Amino acid sequence: MSATIQKIDHLGIAVKSIEAALPYYEKTLGLKCGHIEEVPSQKVRTAFFACGEVHLELLEPTDPESTIAKFIETKGEGIHHIAFATTDITGQLAQAKEAGSRLIHEVPFDGAGGKLVAFLHPKSSFGVLTEFCQPKPEACSGGCSCSH
Ligand code: ZN
Repeated sequence: MSATIQKIDHLGIAVKSIEAALPYYEKTLGLKCGHIEEVPSQKVRTAFFACGEVHLELLEPTDPESTIAKFIETKGEGIHHIAFATTDITGQLAQAKEAGSRLIHEVPFDGAGGKLVAFLHPKSSFGVLTEFCQPKPEACSGGCSCSH
């Protein structure tokens, strides 16, 4: 059993509208919105707030068929997932699978913030939708011999 998880990276929070939720996070809590980004693969817009080392990730559906739209429809707005930062997302997924967890994603994909992400199925994580994320290696600026 290897320990590739370093910390909680962020909490994902489903909202109907980022614009409507912004004043709460900015004025009531006094947090600063880092950036807002659309993630087409997940049919969401995301807004990130730094809260110490942990970030809050607001998720607004951009399509009524997105999983976030369906989540809000059945459960209402609120905490959607917990994301753990890992140093080895592929190894962590293999470990979870070996331990008997169902994976939603066998292969990590590009998530918000330039990270590789993958989710475990909530049925095998006791109701908490669990995300693993790993920062991608810095995109190089050219001039080196790598293939990017
Ligand atoms: Zn997330």
